[in-house]
Amino acid sequence: MHELGITQNIVAIVSEHAHGSKVKRVLLEIGKLSAIMPDAIRFCFDICSQGTVLEKAKLEILEISGLGKCRQCDAEIPLEQPFGECQCGSKYIDLIAGQELKIKEIEIEEICV
Ligand SMILES: [Zn+2]
Repeated sequence: MHELGITQNIVAIVSEHAHGSKVKRVLLEIGKLSAIMPDAIRFCFDICSQGTVLEKAKLEILEISGLGKCRQCDAEIPLEQPFGECQCGSKYIDLIAGQELKIKEIEIEEICV
């Protein structure tokens, strides 16, 4: 399960950004073609966040649909897998969305001084 390593990375990056403050919410973008299972990330997040500033933070995951662009006719093609065929018959499709794994937003608890 490679999601565990990915989640550990996410927790490490977010912790660094938080500078010791409590994290309230994390928004991730995960492409549907990235072979990363959002449910597995959620499961790992509960484990990895324990004892860190991310503990009890809300994890939101935005799934990004796959999208390709035909090299021949420039048509955009929705993709369910990281390959496909354009209506024009071309198989030369560049992936333009669906493979991302991004930390989109981090919400940190404000500390009243
Ligand atoms: Zn085409």
